[in-house]
Amino acid sequence: MPVDYHMHTPLCKHATGEPEEYVLRAIERGIGEIGFSDHNPMPDWYDPMSRMARVEFSRYEAMVRAVQRRFAGRIAIRFGIEADFHPGTEDYVREFLASAPFDYAIGSVHYLGDWPFDHPDAVEGFLRRDIDSIYEEYYGLVIRMADTGLYDIAGHLDLPKKFGHRPRSDMMPAVRRALIAIRDAGMCFEVNTSGLRKPVREIYPSADIVRLAAKLGVPVTLGSDAHEARHVGEDFDRALTLLREAGYREVMRFEERMPTPTPL
Ligand code: ZN
Ligand code: FE
Ligand code: FE
Ligand code: ZN
Repeated sequence: MPVDYHMHTPLCKHATGEPEEYVLRAIERGIGEIGFSDHNPMPDWYDPMSRMARVEFSRYEAMVRAVQRRFAGRIAIRFGIEADFHPGTEDYVREFLASAPFDYAIGSVHYLGDWPFDHPDAVEGFLRRDIDSIYEEYYGLVIRMADTGLYDIAGHLDLPKKFGHRPRSDMMPAVRRALIAIRDAGMCFEVNTSGLRKPVREIYPSADIVRLAAKLGVPVTLGSDAHEARHVGEDFDRALTLLREAGYREVMRFEERMPTPTPL
C-alpha cells in the first residue's frame, strides 16, 4: 500500500484515539507512508466545534512531530492539514497555511453558505433545496477552491452524495469543469475510502469521476479519512482496484508541498 494521507486527531473533537494508534494500524496494514491531516483552525465564527482552535495548533504540530521521531525508520509520517475552503476565509487560510511547514494541504468544501451539508445533524437541509442546485453550487465552490491556488489535494470530491442524495440530472459537465480546475491548479484529488462507511456506501469520488479524472490527466492520492485508528488504510484494496481499472499507475506523495509520483 503506497500512502494514506487523510487522518484526524482528537483535536478536532470528533475523532478518537491517539496518533500512535493510527500509526501502529498503518504499520499493521503495510502502508509505507502516512500523513496526518486534521481539520484546520478557521476564523472564530466558522464551525469551531469541528476543529482545533488556533491556540491548539502548536499541540497538533507537536503530536505529529512526536510520532515522526518515535517511528522514524519504520514508517514515513507527513505533516498535513485538511483546510476548509469557504468564501471570505481565503486570507485567513492563506496566512495559516504559510505559518507552518506543511507537507501538504487537503482542500475541502464542507459548507454551502451556512449549511454544513455533510453533518449528520443538518441532513434535513437536503429536503429544503433542489438536489441538482446543491451539486452545482458544490462543484462551483470546488472550482473557486482550486482557483485560490492554496491547496494541494481536493478532498472527498463528490461529498454531497454522503447520505445517498443523488443528482437528478447529469453532473458530469460540472465535475469535468472541477477536475480541469484542479489539474490546472497543479493539484491532485484524493480517492477517499470513508464514503464506504457512510450511508452512501461508496468511495469518494465515484468510479465514473475517477475514470474521467484519469482521462483528463488529473493526478491522484489516497486517504481513509480515519477518525478512529481502526479505519486507517481501510478498504484500500478496493481503492487500488478502482484506480487501476481507471488507468492509474501511480499516486502522489508529498514533501514540503512538492508532489512526487510513486507506483501503485
Ligand atoms: Zn472530520
Ligand atoms: Fe472533510
Ligand atoms: Fe477528513
Ligand atoms: Zn474529510
